[in-house]
Amino acid sequence: MVKAYLTIDDSPSSDFLGKVNFLSSIRVPAVFFCRGDLIEGRRDELIEAIQRGFIIGSHSYIHKRHSLLSLEECLDSIRRNDEILEELYLGAGVKRRKKVFRFPYLDNGCGSFPSSKEGLSIEEIRWLEKVMKDVVGESKFPDIEQISKKEVLQNELKVLGYKGIPGVNISAYNKGFGSFDSNITYCSNDWHLVLRHQKTYQETVKDLKRKIEEEILSLKDLSVQIMLFHDYGEKIVDEAFRFLISFMKEEGVDFLDLNRIS
Ligand SMILES: [Zn+2]
Repeated sequence: MVKAYLTIDDSPSSDFLGKVNFLSSIRVPAVFFCRGDLIEGRRDELIEAIQRGFIIGSHSYIHKRHSLLSLEECLDSIRRNDEILEELYLGAGVKRRKKVFRFPYLDNGCGSFPSSKEGLSIEEIRWLEKVMKDVVGESKFPDIEQISKKEVLQNELKVLGYKGIPGVNISAYNKGFGSFDSNITYCSNDWHLVLRHQKTYQETVKDLKRKIEEEILSLKDLSVQIMLFHDYGEKIVDEAFRFLISFMKEEGVDFLDLNRIS
């Protein structure tokens, strides 16, 4: 049986509470990575989600590629959203036991490839390129400055108490990504369904279902998967979300609750 964490980026949208209700109804836990710039106006909804057992993670305050921001802007964006989430948990009366962070576009300061290629095997590089390609496109290896920026940002996350999602037993993931942010092992490509991307990708919900069959349901290895979906508040993507999560649940995917992992 495939074990997976469901992680949802770019929350909260107008469909946020709809997703919370849907996931509760089929008993699927999830981590919502929330953008600070979208939280204002939906604080009560986030507080409700926290009280109902969902984890609200940080997706930084500014939804921009952190390799394109100055170091100060990155640090400010990380700290600012951390304070907002602390307030939300305080407002919910729930202890923030799990602090998780995901960089917008998985860009940890290194751009479109998360680390130096030193020490990575060809297979590990390919694995990372595939994951990054599903999220941001073709990979370019980072330069020394970007790698040192990554180290500063990882250290900041560590100081703030963030930890990666545990249990991934894939060497490329553990060697390539940072230890203190949360990355993914699988991208649903749901963002291809967004109206402005449809012409480029021409994918349908059926294509996304087939991707799940080929890349998730067929898995023989025992690593935990970290799956990426999005919360856009756009009808076609929101419907696909419900359809694909229900499908995986019916197929026996075991969705893990990060709250219950020590
Ligand atoms: Zn995002």
